[in-house]
Amino acid sequence: MKTLVWDVDDVLNNLMSDWYEHRWRRENSRSTLGYNQISENPPNRVLGISMEAYLESLDAFRRSDGRSLEPDLEVLRWFEKQGHRFRHVALTAVPIEFADISAAWVMRNFGKWIRSFHVIPSRSTDSTQDPYDKTKAEFLVRWGRADLVIDDNNAIIESVREIPLEAILWPRPWNQNKLLTRMNALESITQLP
Ligand SMILES: [Mg+2]
Repeated sequence: MKTLVWDVDDVLNNLMSDWYEHRWRRENSRSTLGYNQISENPPNRVLGISMEAYLESLDAFRRSDGRSLEPDLEVLRWFEKQGHRFRHVALTAVPIEFADISAAWVMRNFGKWIRSFHVIPSRSTDSTQDPYDKTKAEFLVRWGRADLVIDDNNAIIESVREIPLEAILWPRPWNQNKLLTRMNALESITQLP
């Protein structure tokens, strides 16, 4: 059985669009930008705000809504049909203070298939005192059991391909994978031998 490594935010869920529609747009009703115009992640430049303001808003959203985010329905349907054919691991980069919310969310929504959860703390300030893996690629090299990595972050996918490991850049408005739809991406996973 092949082992698939899934990013959590904006792959298993729709964090950016949920944050954007349910928090940002409500607080900034004059903003005319559509979700599909968020061509960068983090989106602070596109939205014309500071990085601090963006992170503050996103963190507040994770605190208030992080537990109740809906899973992406296309992905959930795929797991229901194809999930049993593979082993699955969740690999997320998130501030450590939200790791418990993310882990519980993954187990509650995808625990039928995803049995392992690994976190790379993001935004950690005291990295000299942290002896563990700093990046997803470092973790994947050390762990050595991944067959395919699915992530919406360009830089992460590039670093994974350099390992080298198979990887799918999950189509989102902020990455270069404009041709492949999420349906196509899921179909290409289904085709794995
Ligand atoms: Mg992501």
